[in-house]
Amino acid sequence: MDDMKELSRGEQLRKALTYQKKNGYDRLLPGELEAMDAYCTGYKEFLDAGKTERECVDRTIAMAEAAGFRPYTRGMELKPGDKVYRSNRGKAIMLAVMGRKSLDEGVNIGAAHIDSPRLDLKQNPLYETDEMAFLKTHYYGGLRKYQWVTIPLELHGVVALKSGQVVRVSVGNGEGDPLFTIDDLLPHLGVEQSKKPLSEAIPAENLNILVGSRPLADDEGSDRVKIAVLELLNRKYGIVEEDFISAELSAVPAFNACDIGFDRSLIGSYGHDDRVCAYAALAALLQLGTPERTAVCMLADKEEIGSEGVTGMKSTAFDTFMADLCAGQGVLPRACYEKSFCLSADVTAAYDPNFAEVYEKRNSALINYGMGLCKYTGARGKSGASDASAELVAYVRKVLDNANVVWQMAELGKVDAGGGGTVAAYMAERDIDTLDAGVPVLSMHAPFETVSKLDCYMTFKGMKAIFQAE
Ligand code: MN
Ligand code: MN
Repeated sequence: MDDMKELSRGEQLRKALTYQKKNGYDRLLPGELEAMDAYCTGYKEFLDAGKTERECVDRTIAMAEAAGFRPYTRGMELKPGDKVYRSNRGKAIMLAVMGRKSLDEGVNIGAAHIDSPRLDLKQNPLYETDEMAFLKTHYYGGLRKYQWVTIPLELHGVVALKSGQVVRVSVGNGEGDPLFTIDDLLPHLGVEQSKKPLSEAIPAENLNILVGSRPLADDEGSDRVKIAVLELLNRKYGIVEEDFISAELSAVPAFNACDIGFDRSLIGSYGHDDRVCAYAALAALLQLGTPERTAVCMLADKEEIGSEGVTGMKSTAFDTFMADLCAGQGVLPRACYEKSFCLSADVTAAYDPNFAEVYEKRNSALINYGMGLCKYTGARGKSGASDASAELVAYVRKVLDNANVVWQMAELGKVDAGGGGTVAAYMAERDIDTLDAGVPVLSMHAPFETVSKLDCYMTFKGMKAIFQAE
């Protein structure tokens, strides 16, 4: 209190009573700059290795096994400190570090998603027109179509054959690989197109990926370019055109993660939403010793299309995993859930001064102000939001402050400017106390999104504090 004596009464009141936001760089502890850079190097590697949810699961399993995790099998006996994981069909994954306390005292969950907006191939995608070959797409998630033309694209996914064999496809991120692209109109002929609203300028059925132009030699039949492409695919993957029917192939931006800015303070990449929080939750979990409460990391699929499907957060795959863990201790899953806590770790919109009109700055997340907590998300009057209780927000404030985590409150833009949701509502539906929190992102859902390194690191630190909370 000594330094307070020097201050005037007004200054004392201001200091004691008002909420002052402070840039995270002015709040870092000694050594944290270095820790932040090291953490972000690992995150960039994770981004480059995981451009689809399947690839993220593969990478997660490799990292988890290196950290001592084993695949969980039903009935497996577990003791405090044991580390297990279960993959849900290779597209979502749940990991747990068993705590000292019984599961009837609840668990600490970090839930994020590993699917990102992209262009999925249709089931009958390949065609030739005017001696060029294209692939038809159906976009996945909320993307702004005009951003996806004239950028380099990679192709990732699987082709499942009737034999049961699943062929992995990854073209574009290997050394010397070709890339793909979607063409757009030249300005010289774009006079009419330029008059259209952004949402209409590029119709979804125009998002056709250019994949070839060299006709089959010594042939006078039809579709010579398409036949030549099919021959290449057959040679490399052993597939025929009909096999696209049981394929999941996605075109994703061909950008690797990189530092942004002269000061390298930011990271530009495809897929920050929500791999930036998925990696934070995963990295924090992998570093845990034996926590008091069991720590669970849930990396879900299908969030971008409403958490639907067997690998989405609405799927009971999560409940089955939790029920299996509970059965090992003779605990009712619902008794575990009602005492559990979940941090729904998903990105939020960072305040962008170039588009200030859609933000309400007082309640927006700012770049470099740390992990953003969202009491509620939703649209049109919080519709679709989980809206955490005041008591829960107070609990998280305490946990984060005790761990010196730089955090801020966040709201996704101005009221009625739009909105969005996360997996929080589906965790809350399970009777699990849930709060949204995550990294603020610039250009969210664009092929190339930007986040701040400080916010990435603080989200990791926050996740760790949550997992360690008693
Ligand atoms: Mn998200
Ligand atoms: Mn999203």
